[in-house]
Formats: sequence, structure tokens, C-alpha cells
Amino acid sequence: MDLIIEGGTVIDGSGGPRVRADVGIVDGVIVAIGDLYDAPAHQRHDASGRIVAPGFIDAHTHDDRLLLQTAPGPHPKLSQGVTTVITGNCGVSLAPLRLDGVAPPAPLDLLGRDDWHFDRFSDYLDALDAYGPAVNAACLVGHSTLRVRHVADLGRDATAEECARMAADLDAALDAGALGMSTGLYYPPAQAASTDEVIAVGRPLTQHRGIVAMHLRDEGDAIDDALREGFLIGRSLEVETVLSHHKLIGKRNHGRSIDTLNMVEQAAAQQSLCMDCYPYHASSTMLIASRVGQSSQVLVTWSEADPSAAGRSLFDLAKERGVAPEALVAQLSPAGAIYFAMDEDDVSRILAHPLTMVGSDGLAHDKVPHPRLWGTFPRVLGHYARERRLFSLETAVHKMTGLTARRFGLHNRGLLQAGHAADLVVFDAATVADRATFEDPTQLSAGIDAVFVNGTLACQAGQVVNAHAGRVLRRGDRAAGQGVQ
Ligand SMILES: [Zn+2]
Repeated sequence: MDLIIEGGTVIDGSGGPRVRADVGIVDGVIVAIGDLYDAPAHQRHDASGRIVAPGFIDAHTHDDRLLLQTAPGPHPKLSQGVTTVITGNCGVSLAPLRLDGVAPPAPLDLLGRDDWHFDRFSDYLDALDAYGPAVNAACLVGHSTLRVRHVADLGRDATAEECARMAADLDAALDAGALGMSTGLYYPPAQAASTDEVIAVGRPLTQHRGIVAMHLRDEGDAIDDALREGFLIGRSLEVETVLSHHKLIGKRNHGRSIDTLNMVEQAAAQQSLCMDCYPYHASSTMLIASRVGQSSQVLVTWSEADPSAAGRSLFDLAKERGVAPEALVAQLSPAGAIYFAMDEDDVSRILAHPLTMVGSDGLAHDKVPHPRLWGTFPRVLGHYARERRLFSLETAVHKMTGLTARRFGLHNRGLLQAGHAADLVVFDAATVADRATFEDPTQLSAGIDAVFVNGTLACQAGQVVNAHAGRVLRRGDRAAGQGVQ
């Protein structure tokens, strides 16, 4: 065998109980699980006293551009044990869109203001494969990106002709291996899009058996209608439907997750439906005035107009400068922010729900990012499973591996079993913890010992060993555990 990870306790990602076992790997694929003491191996990795689990799958990322970059120092995803990311969420994907140096409208600029040069989605996937990303990537096409490309006036519903052009782009992307489509009807470039437009654009998903992931039109007072719209879109397209980062924004909506989860359960009895969630009671996105009034605190994460505002409280800055917070939003934009507007009970209730996967929603290009970028997965294992006992460690791992792989159709990923790709994480159940905070958001997590991507040691004790062991997981590619079914 190429590698044996020995002496550890396996949590296989299915949700089932842990077992003491060694793990044998050949050519990047798991070939044996059991007592491999006598088996020959080129390399052995000691995992005594540690948990060995499938590498974590980040169900919700904006890593489209991060995957094409290698920065010195630790990696925000590898350091947490993440080996696969779902990109292109919230309607925002880096492709297909060529802007030739013109800055994209918010929130597309959450991916950065440059590097918009992929005319075709297949060009983006090819570029990723040629570059060799740090982690595996399964990629969604953003509806807002398609709108910016094809809709002449973003302030209105798309015409039939524009819908046809967007659908053709989506169809080509699905042919090239895209996983599905994401929407962000909450955001300015897509607010004017009707339900019918989304269904018309998403129509190729039906035949390709793609998925639709939705940042709902509203996560506050009007969330019931927004949920019903999301259910209708998924039902009309007859595809797997992901409700992105389910949450309740604004004090008067706190506690309503009891009702929204009820609605989700009722809909899930009729259609294939799931959710993702990040383990924090603060959100982060573009700086937007409507969100400010719903929040008890707002931290600026970046500002194009005033870079010195990054890391500062919007309310403090507004007081210092003698302006209203909403007026300051206009002065700082384009910009990003963290909003404290959720209730911890809602976060816990949603996170614990059996239909909920873990997704970070981290924003890799923010100057002072939300700590979820560096801490999401260890936080679920340490804070929520070990300390708060919200669920077992096996359930926590399931929510970040097997459940996610099944829902997104990631073939041969997410479970620690023979025949699956050797994406693995070795961690210490007693010490695993997030260290990133709102004050110090890029602190490395604790307790993540080693991370293997496709059988290659990619990260050890938080430090990158191999930054190019990942690959694109294309929908429809079942060969050698590479793809997505
Ligand atoms: Zn979102």
C-alpha cells in the first residue's frame, strides 16, 4: 500500500458509531479499513489517540477565486480539515463572465474586483484543473452572474430572450461538469428577478439532474414567503434543493426557526430538500443599508472607499464622523460587513436539524473576515459537539461529510469506506476547537493534526504541505472516485 493511517479511531461519515481501525490507501483511493498491522506500506502515519474521518466538505463557499491562488502561510480551508468545497453560492460565481477590468456590481465583488475573465464556465473549470487547487472543487453557476452577463437592465425581470441566453449558458456549464445553479434573490442584481425567471433559467437543471442552491429572497420578516418561493422553484425544476445558510435575521424574528423548520419538514416530505448553516450568530456579506437597522452591531470587513474602516464598528465610526450609520454605508461602499442580528437558539436549532449540513460561507478576500472563514468546522466539532453536546461527534462529522456528499451527489466522497477517494482528516476529539474570533479572525484552529487530499498529505499541524492536491469534481464523472454523480 502507498500509505497506512494506523492506530486511529474511524468515524466514517455515515453517522454510525466510531470503530478502532487502520486505513490503507493506494493511488489516492481507500482500499482497506481494519487491522493493517502486518500489511506492507511505503508510508505509515500514526493516528494513535486520534479520530480519522472523511475530509470535510464545505457545503457553502465563495472560494471560486481562492482556489486559483496560493498565498504563503496557512490555508483557511485545509487548516480546518476541509478537503472539498462547493463554490459559486448565493447567485455569485466567477464564471461565466468577462469584465475586462470593469468592477462587477456588488455582491459579485465579494469574490474580488479583478479576475473576471472566464467567458465560458468550462474555461474556469479547465483553469482550476490546470492550476491544481488546494482542495477539491464542485462548482455552481451563479444566477446573478448570468444576469450581469445577459440582462441589459438589472432593475427588471429578464425577457424571454435573456432567459434563453442564461439557460443556454447554464446548460453548457452543466455539460462541462458544473454541479448546478445558485441564486441570490436577496441581492440587488437579482432582486427584480421573478420566480418564473429563475425557473426558466434553471430549466436545464431538470434534465441534467443538477441541483439548485438558494440564498432566499428574504431571511427576515418575509421569510415565510421566501421559503415558499424556494420550495416552488425546486419543485418546478424537480431537482435537489439546498436552502443556503438558513437563518432568521432581526430581533423580531428570533425564535421563528421553530416555524421555518416546520415548513421545511413539510416541504421535504414532498420534494428533495436540505439546508446548510454556519455555526455563528453573526452573518457577513456586502455592506447594505437595509441590514444595518436589523443588527445590534455591524463590523466593517473591507471598504474600497476607505480601507482604514476595515475591522471597525460601523456605529462607532458613524458617531466619530457625526453621520447616520445608513449615510456612512453610502460613503464606505463598495464594502463588506459582519452583522450581529441572529439569535443563538435559532442557530443551534437549525444546526442540529437532521436536514442541515455545515457550510462556512466564508469570504476569503475580506481584509478583516468573519471568523467562519477559518473556524467553522472545528467550531462545530469543539464548541457544538464536545462542549455544548448539541449532537454526537459522529453526527457532527456526518453533517460535514456523508450528508453533504449525498445531497450534492459527490460520487465516492464523504464516506470513509473502501473504494472512496482518500480525502481524510486526522483530529484530536479532546482538543479540536476554533480559535478565530471577531477580533482576531484568522487564528488557526486547534486539534486538526493532518489532512489528506486524494491520498496526498496536504496539511500537517495547520501548515500547508501540498497546496495542489485537489481537483475539480465534475458532475457526471464517476471515474476513479473523481466526480459527481
Ligand atoms: Zn448567501
